[in-house]
Amino acid sequence: MNNTGNLLLVDDELNLLLSMEELLNLHGYNTTAAHGGVAALPLLDSQHFDLVILDLNMPGVTGHDVLRHIKENQYNVTVIVVSGETSFEAVSEALKLGAYDYLRKPYAPDGLLTTIRNAVSKSQLEAQNKVIQDKLSDSERLHRYIVEHSPDMIYMLDEQGCFTYLNDRTTVLLGYDAENLIGTPITKLVHKDDLEGIDELLHLDSSTDFISKVLRLKTSDGLIRFFDFELSPIQLNSNNGIATLFSGQQRSSGVFGVARDITARVKAEETINFQAYHDLLTNLPNRGLFEDRIDMVIAQAKRNDQKFGLMFLDLDRFKLVNDTLGHTLGDLMLQAIAQRLQSCVREGDTLARFGGDEFTLLLPQLHGEDDAILVAEKIRAALKKPFSIEGHELYTSVSIGIALYPQDGTNLRELIAHADTAMYAIKQRGKDGYQLYQSELDNSSPDRIVLEHDLRRALDGEEFALQYQPQVDLITGKMSGIEALIRWDHPKQGRLMPMDFIDIAEQSGMVVPIGKWVIEKAIQDWVVWKNEGIHISRVAVNISSLQISQPTFADEIIELLDCYSMPAHYLEIEITESLLMADTTQVVEKLRKLSDHGIGIAIDDFGTGYSSLSYLQKFPLRTLKIDRTFIEEIENKDVDAYLVNAIVSIAKGLNLELVAEGVENWAQLEYLRSRGCDKVQGYLFSKAVDADEIERIVRAEANSSYLEKAEA
Ligand code: C2E
Ligand code: MG
Ligand code: MG
Repeated sequence: MNNTGNLLLVDDELNLLLSMEELLNLHGYNTTAAHGGVAALPLLDSQHFDLVILDLNMPGVTGHDVLRHIKENQYNVTVIVVSGETSFEAVSEALKLGAYDYLRKPYAPDGLLTTIRNAVSKSQLEAQNKVIQDKLSDSERLHRYIVEHSPDMIYMLDEQGCFTYLNDRTTVLLGYDAENLIGTPITKLVHKDDLEGIDELLHLDSSTDFISKVLRLKTSDGLIRFFDFELSPIQLNSNNGIATLFSGQQRSSGVFGVARDITARVKAEETINFQAYHDLLTNLPNRGLFEDRIDMVIAQAKRNDQKFGLMFLDLDRFKLVNDTLGHTLGDLMLQAIAQRLQSCVREGDTLARFGGDEFTLLLPQLHGEDDAILVAEKIRAALKKPFSIEGHELYTSVSIGIALYPQDGTNLRELIAHADTAMYAIKQRGKDGYQLYQSELDNSSPDRIVLEHDLRRALDGEEFALQYQPQVDLITGKMSGIEALIRWDHPKQGRLMPMDFIDIAEQSGMVVPIGKWVIEKAIQDWVVWKNEGIHISRVAVNISSLQISQPTFADEIIELLDCYSMPAHYLEIEITESLLMADTTQVVEKLRKLSDHGIGIAIDDFGTGYSSLSYLQKFPLRTLKIDRTFIEEIENKDVDAYLVNAIVSIAKGLNLELVAEGVENWAQLEYLRSRGCDKVQGYLFSKAVDADEIERIVRAEANSSYLEKAEA
């Protein structure tokens, strides 16, 4: 028997109630009998019935009251009223209160059974329907929840590319209200550079599964975010039922899909890419990127028959900043320098940090060398102005080598090598300048790389030698001292002068052990002379700034003097002016220690740096050596050489001994003497000579003064 449901029978007439129950049981219904309305209410409250057969006229709780109770409590139950009451009001009131049907007493059993059957099946249908409805709305709620709470944008576009649907996530990601975007063309949101080809995306062939593309969208606050779009064509076939969604609408197809915000990933990739191709200190392109760019520029120049230029820039004495002020300040200085360099170049030029204190500059589309020279001049001028770094006023200069395509090279390697050769030539000529590459430069200096390599073995191979250049006192006419100058007898290149290798020695750090050797050798020579009765009252030794930055620098010199029993005042060390500017306390302390010990401190090449008087005062100096370039400018004794005059007065003001370097003729000597500079060094008297030659000079002096000899 099929499920006929639970029936509640309500009547105050017990006979009628029981006979109805009997009848219905006989037809297979489950019934519960309630004797009157009062008994019905708790039954309705406590269990579910599919159907209620209800009498109207009952004492206490009437059929109308029961109907009202059902309605108020929203019990889902069908009610058939079976009553002797026939007044229109009573019946219509019952129907209004939700009764399903009305049967008049006395009822014909067949009529009752038919009505009940209909009601039960209606009630069952309704119940089934409700279940389906509930399932549907659950499913719709679930899908809506998934779509609206998706981490990605989900959208639909019509054939015109206008949004027809957007999930709520859009509002979060783009800042626009998703509702307001409906009807807006997507092109309004897409970055202009991504618009190309977008039409194609919006009209996907229906055979396309999906395609994906990264598009940049503009957010409501004017930013750009990256989205990975996946688009599929909307398939209007009967299988997916989508067609019916669009039925009656003109727009009938388009695309839909998801768009994932990949901004964070793109930014991370950009950073990684940037880091791979840039120098992190200065943010300039690094060597790798620079070489890529050259390759591109070469290809372009070849195609269009154009010239371009490549510059190699090397900061002069930059190591000094690092060695004396520390790497933190050195880094700040490099950043400031990079900024200045950048301000000298045009858009389209590539400035790169090649390494340490080396920069390269690529100048595409150059008309000729004049253009390159202009840029080089501009750079030099820009770097001349002082840098203010953490309270230090620092100066720098740069040596620039220039190679031009195609005349100086047609590939990356050649161009870089030739620009480097040109740069090195300018370093050798005293730094601070620029040089265009010429093929003659190739032979003028030995290969740096080879030399650096050879230098490491030169000390062990005893390839270094010292020569000494006399200094002459113009008042006594006698040799007042000598300066030790290093030479390198290279097994293949022959004798090399300091300018060929001191820079390399400094850059590779080899200058430290080499410098130590120089000091010891000079002391040994002095001792040998002394033992032979030859008195040399001063031996000057050149010291590189890198040596001074060694913690044990001062102690080692003092130890050597002790070891050879050479009184300290016979030794003088020559330091460069640039060291003064880096007035770190450590440098001052070391020099003071030496000076307190009796060792003389001389400033070499004075006037070429930028040291101010206040710097000079801080250091325990004994001697100023006027740089050769100032002496060169002396034409004759009657024409004022203002810079020489200025330096002479500085030395007198600070009570320093003065030595003029590079004196080559009598006019210079006379001028210096007339201005009160009494010590000179230069070819006029002697070049640097070997130690035994010094011995000979001193012995000869016993007879006549050096000055007289020279005059004769
Ligand atoms: P400096 O200390 O200024 O030495 C003077 C340089 O001028 C020497 O060149 C000397 O030969 C040259 N000179 C002297 N008189 C004249 C002259 O009348 N006319 C001209 N045109 N030149 C003259 P040198 O020996 O080639 O040394 C060059 C530089 O190399 C030195 O300049 C010094 O800075 C450096 N140097 C030399 N020996 C050493 C050393 O043992 N250690 C370090 N760190 N540097 C050294
Ligand atoms: Mg010197
Ligand atoms: Mg000098």
